[in-house]
Amino acid sequence: KAKETHRNKIEFYVEGMSAALGSFVLLENDLRAAIEHDQLKLLYQPQFDLQTNSLVGMEALVRWQHPDRGMIAPENFIPLAEETGLIVELGDWVLRAACRQQKRWLEAGNYCQSVSVNLSPRQFRGDAFVQRLADILIEVELPARYLELEITESSVMEHAAESIHMMNELNGMGVSLAIDDFGTGYSSLSYLKRFPIQKLKIDRSFISDVATDQNDAAIAKSIINLAHNMALNVVAEGVENELQAEWLRDKGCDMAQGYLYSRPLSAQGVDEYLMAGEFFSQENLGALGSTA
Ligand code: C2E
Ligand code: MG
Ligand code: MG
Ligand code: MG
Repeated sequence: KAKETHRNKIEFYVEGMSAALGSFVLLENDLRAAIEHDQLKLLYQPQFDLQTNSLVGMEALVRWQHPDRGMIAPENFIPLAEETGLIVELGDWVLRAACRQQKRWLEAGNYCQSVSVNLSPRQFRGDAFVQRLADILIEVELPARYLELEITESSVMEHAAESIHMMNELNGMGVSLAIDDFGTGYSSLSYLKRFPIQKLKIDRSFISDVATDQNDAAIAKSIINLAHNMALNVVAEGVENELQAEWLRDKGCDMAQGYLYSRPLSAQGVDEYLMAGEFFSQENLGALGSTA
């Protein structure tokens, strides 16, 4: 028993803590309890249309609010969840919570086209995934077209045939699909064209120096053109300043997401941000205004 527990632990440091003081161990049981006892929380990061500045989507990003250890970032517990299989339960929790919130937003005035949820390879590959997702959408009464799923390049490439089958089923339901962190995984272009996806997200590692580094610029430009040649939308992740946004707008990138616009916010934070915002169209303002 002790051995088994030992196998499923991950050591990490809380953000901002010094390594010497902050080292501790997270256990599988802690995470199971977190899922059961409502210690998970979703933050939402808005995505904007670069040409019109209107809000086009929200990405749901999970956090663990640990009673003693404070807010824990996903990279510090998603790997544990994947390793232990808890990702299935955790992933369902995230999907349900995000869909429920999106439903609330739609009822409040339809100011957000879609909510995006990140999927882990293991969660996505599970046989029953499509059916469970369908059940969640019915339970929450959210039409599938308001949900987008983000899958990383490597996770779909690794089991391409199986992934394509599942992606087709999801598309058939009306769920849209995005490839996350594009450019960092290994990609086969011959597979890419067979993936029934709607969007590529350019990884933020290419965006940070896009306006000054020729190689990053070349890569970002190529991804934008690749996406458009395949009739896909393209989103830049991690846009932190106007220079990057301007560069992306100039190159025809469709959408942007990042600290320039907003950090990930609580659902209530999103409402406050949008009420105060300058970023959305009159149409959206009207819809939002009617809920006040
Ligand atoms: P991701 O899906 O690529 O999400 C984007 C990450 O970049 C988020 O980190 C976000 O907070 C961060 N970010 C956004 N804008 C900026 C910016 O302008 N500058 C910088 N430096 N960072 C920015 P976060 O929330 O820590 O999430 C990290 C990763 O954890 C996500 O990467 C995603 O792969 C994973 N993740 C998050 N939530 C879930 C979830 O519910 N399920 C699964 N399976 N994975 C998740
Ligand atoms: Mg992070
Ligand atoms: Mg993502
Ligand atoms: Mg990403």
